[in-house]
Amino acid sequence: MKDISISEAALSQLDEALDLMTNINSQSLVALQMPSGIIRDHLLFLRLIRKRFNCEVLTLLRPSYGACDIPYPNLEKMGVTHIIHMGHNSIETFVKSIPTLFVPIKLPVEIDIVKDALARMVKDHSLESEKIVITSTVQYLDVVAEIIGELEKRKVIPLVNTPEGRTTSPGQVLGCNFAAAKTEEANVTIFIGTGKFHPRGIAISTGKKVIALNPHTGKTEILTGKDFLYSRASIALSLSDKKRFSVILCTRPGQFRLELAKEMVRKGRKKGYTCELLLLDEIRPEYFTGLKIDGIVSTACPRIAYDDSNLYPVPVITPGEFLLAIGEIDIDRLTIDELD
Ligand code: SF4
Repeated sequence: MKDISISEAALSQLDEALDLMTNINSQSLVALQMPSGIIRDHLLFLRLIRKRFNCEVLTLLRPSYGACDIPYPNLEKMGVTHIIHMGHNSIETFVKSIPTLFVPIKLPVEIDIVKDALARMVKDHSLESEKIVITSTVQYLDVVAEIIGELEKRKVIPLVNTPEGRTTSPGQVLGCNFAAAKTEEANVTIFIGTGKFHPRGIAISTGKKVIALNPHTGKTEILTGKDFLYSRASIALSLSDKKRFSVILCTRPGQFRLELAKEMVRKGRKKGYTCELLLLDEIRPEYFTGLKIDGIVSTACPRIAYDDSNLYPVPVITPGEFLLAIGEIDIDRLTIDELD
């Protein structure tokens, strides 16, 4: 899908969602936050909001990676009265000090491609009469209802878990939370979405079979997390004989894990390691250049360690991997890092 079509989809979804913001008026100051995929078209969104409410709009140029990273304290200081956050669902586990409209961007898919893929999947994996859990990222949650109907027609028993913790929609998973896939009732999960990160996370978190279905191409793939977990364990164990660690704590409201960070420092020091807390608003590789440290323990978004570790001057590991490195846990207790 071309960027412009994502922006067009986003624009029409924003237009619809703005109907909910009945209390914005010409005196309001609205902050607009969006992901990198559509930020180049921010003027489209900004103009729509201004036209609707005749108010001032402030665009946050730093792209957003999740609903976890809205800088409420800074926006409060600026007198922002409303926030419009595009691209993600609300995360319910922290207080929002400014009224916030979340506009998750739903991506259009060819439903016939999905239906054909489901038919092949049921046959190839002998899913008839099986209970399976359906999960998705927010962009594809609208297709879940159609998928349920299609699977039922093929005598599969689909389950969709109600949201809990930081997720707000049935079946929704995040890069830091796979609760929607967890149930004793089923041994197979279907993930609707793109990329490997989420289905691999589900496989590690549940220990069960995961079939990832790309709704744009209809391609399906079985994901297991074992290789990934072993490669992460090997990074962690390579730090066992090192000495100096920074434990990073991120101020973003949905990534702030103070107690966990303190626990890592306490446990590391007890084992004879030098562990210091570092506080950051935004975590970027260049901030660590020249620091005399051997490893970074990230208590912020798990994807910093999983996706970007090699961009940093020293390895970035998760709290669980740190516990493995310092000999607090065995490798069979290492799992994917999740936030509540
Ligand atoms: S912590 Fe990371 S994975 Fe979780 S919502 Fe935020 S950006 Fe996404």
